[in-house]
Amino acid sequence: MAIAAEPQMEHKASSGGAAAEIKRWTLNDFDIGKPLGRGKFGHVYLAREKRQSNHIVALKVLFKSQLKQSQVEHQLRREVEIQSHLRHPNILRLYGYFYDQKRVYLILEYAAKGELYKELQKCKYFSERRAATYVASLARALIYCHGKHVIHRDIKPENLLVGAEGELKIADFGWSVHTFNRRRTMCGTLDYLPPEMVESVEHDASVDIWSLGVLCYEFLYGVPPFEAKEHSDTYKRILQVNLKFPSKPVVSSSAKDLISQMLVKETSQRLPLHKLLEHPWIVQNAEPSGVYRG
Ligand code: ATP
Ligand code: MG
Repeated sequence: MAIAAEPQMEHKASSGGAAAEIKRWTLNDFDIGKPLGRGKFGHVYLAREKRQSNHIVALKVLFKSQLKQSQVEHQLRREVEIQSHLRHPNILRLYGYFYDQKRVYLILEYAAKGELYKELQKCKYFSERRAATYVASLARALIYCHGKHVIHRDIKPENLLVGAEGELKIADFGWSVHTFNRRRTMCGTLDYLPPEMVESVEHDASVDIWSLGVLCYEFLYGVPPFEAKEHSDTYKRILQVNLKFPSKPVVSSSAKDLISQMLVKETSQRLPLHKLLEHPWIVQNAEPSGVYRG
């Protein structure tokens, strides 16, 4: 994917005339509304973009001092660069950013129904229809990302938001990476890529398959599969792929079969995402519209 550094989200001022001006965003372009939540480095507010027919967005305000202190400026830059180039119904849009002396502002798509995490806590666990619908939409979003050589690497309920229609939105690309080196992809030439690098891309992308398997389990059982009291025991269980399915809540054998095919130690043996979409459990349970309405 050609990811050229895009300095700002630019919009054209409709000042008439053919030569479109490039306008930078400032805080004055927005009416700030209620707080939506609080993150590690600042707050998120509902906001209305005054010009573009009152477009509603979420404005994430990050304090530069805190970003510096935690040494995450580089990570934020990467997050912005990657997320702003992705266009998929199940990926939270990042429209642009701007900054002033003290703060960095991210202009994000507003996810009206908030965090999936809270919803899962409320319900304890999801029905198979609901879980399958979510897993299918995440698989489609990840197929899209992987096609652009982007690996999310941090798929979990806390990083999933829900849109007004109930559609899932992957947020938080803070740990995501681009697998090919920048120059190569920018020039669009893969001709010199050695086999181990071609393979490493597929290998890397399989981390998202594993995470999606963990997520699918958590959707259905309400707890992640390798949970243990001590961290060291969780590590052990992961390394051994010590996967157990409790008898309660009752989950179909088809769902368990899918999870078992995703949570495989050998990366090349994990069920590819396009095959996941053809798995009987997905085909029989996922809403074709991709939206779970309850
Ligand atoms: P952390 O790293 O601790 O998760 P963060 O800096 O990533 O924090 P976010 O998780 O992005 O911050 O945002 C904090 C909270 O604000 C979210 O948990 C969510 O409730 C709310 N929020 C963030 N972005 C949006 C959005 N686009 N639409 C609606 N609510 C949002
Ligand atoms: Mg977060």
